[in-house]
Amino acid sequence: MASTIPFESSGYRGRLAPSPTGFLHVGHARTFWTAWQRARNAGGTLVMRMEDLDPDRSRSEYADATYEDLRWLGVRWQEGPDKGGPFGPYLQSKRRNLYLEVWRKLHQRGFLFACRCSRKDLQFALGAPHEASSQSVSTVEPPEDEPLYPGTCRQSLNYTPQLPGPTRQEMELPDGLNWRFRVPDGEVIEFEDGNLGRQRFVAGEDFGDFVVWRRDGTPSYQLACVTDDSMMHITEVVRGADLLKSTARQILLYRALGIPTPKWFHCRIVLDQYGRRLAKRNAALSLGALRQRGVTPMNILAADLPRSA
Ligand code: GLU
Repeated sequence: MASTIPFESSGYRGRLAPSPTGFLHVGHARTFWTAWQRARNAGGTLVMRMEDLDPDRSRSEYADATYEDLRWLGVRWQEGPDKGGPFGPYLQSKRRNLYLEVWRKLHQRGFLFACRCSRKDLQFALGAPHEASSQSVSTVEPPEDEPLYPGTCRQSLNYTPQLPGPTRQEMELPDGLNWRFRVPDGEVIEFEDGNLGRQRFVAGEDFGDFVVWRRDGTPSYQLACVTDDSMMHITEVVRGADLLKSTARQILLYRALGIPTPKWFHCRIVLDQYGRRLAKRNAALSLGALRQRGVTPMNILAADLPRSA
């Protein structure tokens, strides 16, 4: 018998991965619409995954508003927190054990080191107190600007005499320390983007040793995203071009774990009239506010806003 759900028969699996840390804006609308269209055109499945790992900034009101805004836009998904599905739970806050398993694997394979640097240490080492303080605040949110790590604790697994190595307990459970992935300095990470073409980044130059687990017991965006995209069998990742460098970092994680990467499709960033990136804090440009002013989904998707390259 033919399936009554027209949308789930091919092998294509895409995803929507919003963070409930604010209201969606026009940029999100375009990216999520594109993700939906690509899944639909491929006759595939779209998964909704709520990236609610940041305990300080995630709010259920934002998650509810996200679902509502997306439904209003016409975006539909087949698996998610509200629908269930074979690869749940679809809330990242409920997937800690899976992330822990991945941390262990990476750790056992020698890709990680424990980092005792405080934010202050990093600011000092980087010599850019103001920049670093705003950039290193959260690694749960995609840290596109995570500053290059200066290497202070890089050798700590080899017990450099000046630095305390992790205790036995810390070797088994990551909490209490930051854990970083040691990137292969100088190595070129290249990938083909379905929208933006060939991309090229150099490890150690474009990005440094990145956090995979935070001392407060939270996995980083990079680790959680790779874990989920692979366990949810995502075949193509559609997201904003602000995450291109994160893709390069994630490719290193896929490689370290010995699992194949999905395909990539990064959408151009929408800029405001002053050429600045839209941010969740610009409440006036949120989809909810625009909707209340009578703007239609059509207006939002068709508006000729300036875009970055
Ligand atoms: N949760 C991320 C965000 O809202 C997106 C992550 C992704 O698509 O990989 O910025």
